[in-house]
Amino acid sequence: MFGESFMLFRVLGFEIRANVTWLFLALLVTWSLAAGFFPMVYPDLAPSTYWAMALVGMLGLFFSLLFHELAHSVVARSHGLPVHRITLFLFGGVAEMEAEPKEPRIEFWMAIAGPIASLVLAAAFYLLASLMAEIGLPEHVAGVAGYLGFINLLLAIFNMVPGFPLDGGRVLRAALWQWTGNIRMATRWASRVGQGFGLLLVALGLATFVSGNFVGGMWWFLIGLFVHAAATAGYQQLLTQQALQGRTVRRFMTTDPVTVPAEASVQGFVEEYLYHHNFDRFPVVQGDRLLGSVGLAEVRKVPRAEWGGTQIGDVCLARSKENTVAADADANEALNRMQEGRTGRLMVTEGDHIVGVLALKDLLRFLDIRAELERR
Ligand SMILES: [Zn+2]
Repeated sequence: MFGESFMLFRVLGFEIRANVTWLFLALLVTWSLAAGFFPMVYPDLAPSTYWAMALVGMLGLFFSLLFHELAHSVVARSHGLPVHRITLFLFGGVAEMEAEPKEPRIEFWMAIAGPIASLVLAAAFYLLASLMAEIGLPEHVAGVAGYLGFINLLLAIFNMVPGFPLDGGRVLRAALWQWTGNIRMATRWASRVGQGFGLLLVALGLATFVSGNFVGGMWWFLIGLFVHAAATAGYQQLLTQQALQGRTVRRFMTTDPVTVPAEASVQGFVEEYLYHHNFDRFPVVQGDRLLGSVGLAEVRKVPRAEWGGTQIGDVCLARSKENTVAADADANEALNRMQEGRTGRLMVTEGDHIVGVLALKDLLRFLDIRAELERR
């Protein structure tokens, strides 16, 4: 999501990453604290003091977002839901989970853990601020701790708005799910509140922008758009997941794929396969064992003069977790793998052998038909 992100460090076994957009947020926060907020609240200090305070404030915000996401992640993991990594980006943080919770009770505790963590942190920062004032530290030093207390309080309140995908929306979904036993309906309602809240923020942003606060207005406008889009996407994703659940890859694959023997020359591959069949990529086999796959990209690496003397088996892309999926795997798993690897095709395996090819368009066609039938 949102392009490039880079690994920062590991904590409690979770990989912590920052998206490039987080740098933008860090700069914006530091600048607005140093040039706007702190000089307004604590006038007549040296500029270098404001920048130092702003830097501590920004690092504190980073820590606060991370603490919030870690709370979600620790609870998720303790219920057997693996969290791959935590990524901080422009609008905060996300804990990327492999699967959705299987029952409302787990969803509830996972969701509420974040806001509770933020509340605890808010109390801790406020306590720190009053201790600092107590022992006679300058007012503006204690002020930074007070600011972080306020930020955490805001984080807890904002996240408890009952619209999916915010934490409060997940709590609402868990409650409706528990109450009706219908996760679809629960998600639909929580998503609708989320979409409505997103639009409200967009409107608020526009009004703020028009009234002359350009940065603040644009900020709320963007957050509103993001919440609206995420609420819509979250519901779609659930529908997809439910439609594919319990259906194996075998059900969607094309059997008897055209395969290239490893002994074939590059010359032969170009003439008899690449020109001949309407595919970009072909599985490569040795006997009946799957070696990997080959396409135009691998051919390009071989100088034309060597095409006749080079075997496909020596240049093909090796089989890996990214380009294969087991025939008995859940179709959801295949879809996740395609999205992560940004590929539209996977080779379907049974042990060492290839038994078919799975195309994204076939999965999408099935989902389209189902959605169409349910609409009627
Ligand atoms: Zn949260």
